[in-house]
Amino acid sequence: PTEAANGAGTAPSAEDVKLLELSHKYTTEAAKRFRSDGLSQFVRLKEAGSGRFRALAEDPWADHAALNAKEAVKDGAKHKFLILGAGYGGLLYAVRLLEAGLASGPHDILLVDAAGGFGGTWWWNRYPGLHCDVESYSYMPLLEETGYMPKSKYAPGPELLEHAQRVASQWNLQDKALFRSNVKSTTWDDGAQLWNVEVSEGRGPGEPSRELNLQAQYVLIASGVLSNPQVPKIPGLETFAGPLFHTARWDYNATGGGPDDAALTALEGKRVGILGTGATAIQVVPKLAKYAKELYVFQRTPSAVSWRGQRPTDPDEWRSKIANKKGWQRERMLNLDSYVTDAAEEGQENLVADGWTELPAFSAVIGSPRHGDVEPTPEKIAQHVARLHKIDLPHSEQVRARTESIVKDRETAEKLKAWYPTWCKRPTFSDEYLQAFNQPNVHLVDTDGKGVDSATSAGLVVAGKEYPLDMLVLSTGYVTPSIGGGSPAARTGISIYGRGGKSLDDKWQNHGAATLHGMCTNGFPNLFFTAVSQSSHAANNVFTLDVGIEHIANIIAQAEARTGPSGAVVEVSSEAEEAWSLQIMQGAAWFAGVVSCTPGYITSEGEAMRQSGDPIEMAKQARGANFRRGLAAFLKLLQEYRADGSLRGIEVSSRA
Ligand code: FAD
Ligand code: NDP
Repeated sequence: PTEAANGAGTAPSAEDVKLLELSHKYTTEAAKRFRSDGLSQFVRLKEAGSGRFRALAEDPWADHAALNAKEAVKDGAKHKFLILGAGYGGLLYAVRLLEAGLASGPHDILLVDAAGGFGGTWWWNRYPGLHCDVESYSYMPLLEETGYMPKSKYAPGPELLEHAQRVASQWNLQDKALFRSNVKSTTWDDGAQLWNVEVSEGRGPGEPSRELNLQAQYVLIASGVLSNPQVPKIPGLETFAGPLFHTARWDYNATGGGPDDAALTALEGKRVGILGTGATAIQVVPKLAKYAKELYVFQRTPSAVSWRGQRPTDPDEWRSKIANKKGWQRERMLNLDSYVTDAAEEGQENLVADGWTELPAFSAVIGSPRHGDVEPTPEKIAQHVARLHKIDLPHSEQVRARTESIVKDRETAEKLKAWYPTWCKRPTFSDEYLQAFNQPNVHLVDTDGKGVDSATSAGLVVAGKEYPLDMLVLSTGYVTPSIGGGSPAARTGISIYGRGGKSLDDKWQNHGAATLHGMCTNGFPNLFFTAVSQSSHAANNVFTLDVGIEHIANIIAQAEARTGPSGAVVEVSSEAEEAWSLQIMQGAAWFAGVVSCTPGYITSEGEAMRQSGDPIEMAKQARGANFRRGLAAFLKLLQEYRADGSLRGIEVSSRA
């Protein structure tokens, strides 16, 4: 008789044993990577002490002559809406405001961006191999409204950039934008009931910048989540003698080719290094491998690389099956989201059917409408995390098996295997990356979780060995979006002062996040943002933006309808934001899966896992969580909120 039959408990299943072994392996691998300097191991390019790094933050794509020839935005100019950011988020704000009839005057909207044009992420990033990792039919915004059919399932960078320009011209936004302009601060003037926005407009190399003070009735923050490139503080890095640049500012003068020309011929005969192996490097490495004499890939943590399945769009399929009815794009976004939030119904049609739809375990970081709230007790949290690991097991095992089956050299294949749960880093998809390591000119320099030791004028040093390089590409990512406890000010790199000169960063620091639906905060009237906390997110960032911005435009429309032409002052009450914060805190235990993560930007480089033991700090952390039931449920909650028409918890008054 078995132990179970004797009532003495059940023998662990093979799956349980595997999970236990994996948990041990994950913990060991994560432990190698925790660093006491956490987020401060990096510096934002534009704030770097070294002039060489600061220069790397400059916009290589801006057409200064054309921009200088445009009519200048005047100092002191007043706009109804100042939209901070002109990426997909900023464009969505503008379109929704125009559609709602809120911005019919010629000066009602001003989009301000540090970039030289529209596109945000897709303006700055032009590296070879760039494409969206979420299917373009769900990812590219406003496809129904523009009638545009993406050329392939995963649109390349230039097409994503062109789409931003398409949206801008369809809604006549070209003359409503101030480019090359850094917003520095925004301050609420209680008397005038306006925001005063300090902006520094760059005019190109050798030209002094123009300092402007603009006024706006509303400030809408669309500054993105990954828009501040960073570089690790590696000793000696600035002394490297060869070309050195970040992937977010690709230097085609150094590599040859161009955003629309994949021939990187200037790499021929060169020893090229790439530092970092995140989602960007996965796309870049195969392109460098094709032209460089030798390519050295410096790895601290491998990415999990699943299959891609890129293919051209079939116009017949597009007409008959994809863009075949009104509302198709929202439906497709929801369909994709249901898989990633572990909420797909039995027998439901999988419209997107790609690698993302195999990732129910990603619900660990974006929530799920299933499984109920997780009680914040050690037993219940442990059960929840164990369930997540169980649903992740088939996928993570299959990704490691795939690595082994593609990469011929055993030792290299082992080093390329990802030993952390799927939700700890952005999952990646490529049918070229792992294959590149079978080329004789491609060398993996694995640092066993430690990172590169130092740099010299000649190359990078790992474990005491110098790797000589002619060129170095920094694929070292972006400042974590949850910097400053997720404060929208810290993330945007600006100061925000509300009523009575109160700083928004201070509010977050002293109190933790405090919002209604992650979109507005008491003491800061007529300021809206799509937050990284107290809100909800999808794997498809444009779905996240779409849901949030649709809601914000609707709130403003309801408020302005009440007050008429004088305009509205819209402010969430502190009671309403506390009630929402409490709801968020009650769901926070859902996100406990991150405790088994290797550091990365999702965990603020491991800082999110530090348990101070101080109850106030722990409460702040819980306030910074997201809505635990996922974006589809969040959308429903928002729809019900606005259908009610009472704007519960939001105070609306007429501007004097
Ligand atoms: P962004 O596109 O980042 O635009 C924000 C803009 O705000 C920037 O142009 C920036 O210059 C400007 N800005 C910020 N602060 C200031 C300031 N103080 N003053 C002036 N201007 C300021 N997501 C996906 O879902 N799928 C993908 O495939 C995908 N691929 C990505 C690839 C890369 C290389 C990167 C970096 C991110 C990717 N993302 C992806 C995330 C991507 O950022 C979002 O999908 C989306 O483009 C964000 O749009 P946004 O308008 O909110 O922000
Ligand atoms: P990541 O933050 O994902 O990657 C940075 C890389 O640099 C990591 O591999 C990191 O290692 C490595 N690194 C940092 N410091 C050191 C060091 N001292 N020594 C060695 N290595 C170091 O940035 P990415 O630009 O790759 O991606 C950022 C995000 O942008 C993605 O997660 C995704 O959301 C988005 N993106 C999406 C793409 C798409 O597919 N469309 C493409 C590109 C980006 P470690 O992991 O150990 O920290």
